[in-house]
Amino acid sequence: MSEGAAKKEERHKFQAIRGTRDLLPPETALWNHVEKTANEVFATFGFGAIRVPIFEPTELFARSIGLDTDVVSKEMYTFEDYEATELVELRTAAVTNVASLATGEALIDFLDRVGNFILAAEKAFEAGRIPRTPENERTLQMARELIAILQTFRYQGEREILPRVAELKDAVRQVRFGDVISLRPEATASVCRAYIEHGMRQLPQPVKLYYIGPMFRRERPQKGRYRQFYQIGAEVLGGSDAPAIDAEVIEMVMTFFDRLELHGVQLDINSIGCRECRPKYAQLLRAELLRVKDKLGPDSQRRIQTNPLRVLDSKLESEQGTIATLPRITDHLCEACATHYSAVKRQLEMRGVFFRENWRLVRGLDYYMRTTFEITAQGLGSQNAVCGGGRYDGLVELLGGPPTKGIGFAIGEDRLILSLQESGKAPAQPGRDVYIAWMGERAHATAIRAAKDLRKAGFSVELPPVEQKFGKALGQADKLGAKHALILWR
Ligand code: ATP
Ligand code: MG
Repeated sequence: MSEGAAKKEERHKFQAIRGTRDLLPPETALWNHVEKTANEVFATFGFGAIRVPIFEPTELFARSIGLDTDVVSKEMYTFEDYEATELVELRTAAVTNVASLATGEALIDFLDRVGNFILAAEKAFEAGRIPRTPENERTLQMARELIAILQTFRYQGEREILPRVAELKDAVRQVRFGDVISLRPEATASVCRAYIEHGMRQLPQPVKLYYIGPMFRRERPQKGRYRQFYQIGAEVLGGSDAPAIDAEVIEMVMTFFDRLELHGVQLDINSIGCRECRPKYAQLLRAELLRVKDKLGPDSQRRIQTNPLRVLDSKLESEQGTIATLPRITDHLCEACATHYSAVKRQLEMRGVFFRENWRLVRGLDYYMRTTFEITAQGLGSQNAVCGGGRYDGLVELLGGPPTKGIGFAIGEDRLILSLQESGKAPAQPGRDVYIAWMGERAHATAIRAAKDLRKAGFSVELPPVEQKFGKALGQADKLGAKHALILWR
């Protein structure tokens, strides 16, 4: 390879992983502005910041978000977290086959290696260094039995041996070394976990928390949809489910968007009922959907059984006419939910928050009940939802905590930024206030002191590290957009 070609190859070696991206200046100035505004606005509503881990047991998300959701069934980044590195090596040695197993020795050698692994795994199991689960116990037992059987197969042909070897390798691969964990696809479950874990029920209720940070979902990347994206979210936990709480949370997001001067903001609200009335409505909806099944696409047809409310979410042009004829949940709420919903609407009106009722608004995550809302903004194409939220009164209990009311939202920060940029809101990268051009040793010393004083007073200062001719220095000052130049010599 020529040197040029080698260099080129090197240059192309590393790229950000598909669906992830680098955020760079000057754009990051806008991100900082947005996050600073969130900190300020949320503080005025009495919210405190919480930072939860980036990863949690997969089970936490599976249980809260729901197994039938896209997020849990196919979008999470999941891996096994373990410390048993010596087992990993033994397992790799056991299942990587070099020689063919046609000869008796090769089989014995293979069984030796697998035997070594199983022995070590059993020890680790006894000592609790790998999970002491019934599955692990069964798998180890099965591997033992297969080894015993194969030991008597020494003089058999490959046709008898190979299927058993494959079974044994499978068993070996199935031994679990540690907990299964996932990168967080959202943070509500984590915040609820933290609420329980830290006994926040003892604090004055409700507890009002907000977070800002990255989330991870393996989705098809496109404009406004990434595999690592950022959310700004808030949760109100405990206390009552007074409609004023729902309204105030929504008022807070709208105030935040207002402060950012986000364009084309549209708030949609709905009530999706509770454990009492939603199943009844779902049943009614399912029956109706079955009647019009032939007019629906395959995705919606599948959802009739798994999650009929999600059919209402369909964006397929060909289904819109049919969906418009379906029964509406607002007509089938129980009395308590209906009362709650109208009170939320009244409370929003009292706060001067404009909304549109959207009976088709259902959320993709299982834990929502009653109030749900979504906010869209302009300039985003089909990924135009910048915020989704709702009430989730059963969630804390589902995660092993006491019965607790809850409501929250999550803003897609990437989309929020996109929309702000589309409407020309991007603040220009702030230029330097002062560029200090200096020549000579003594001038350099003075320049260093001047830079220190100016920075202390809050000015942005550029101090060139090496001496430059003034012509060059002033050209540099100009390129950096410096407002003032301080010229020091001698
Ligand atoms: P969508 O319908 O757009 O897929 P969602 O219902 O999956 O959104 P939520 O889980 O409620 O979204 O998350 C709240 C917000 O987070 C969304 O309104 C959106 O702004 C943002 N968001 C969700 N997934 C992504 C993603 N992959 N990339 C960027 N932003 C996202
Ligand atoms: Mg989604």
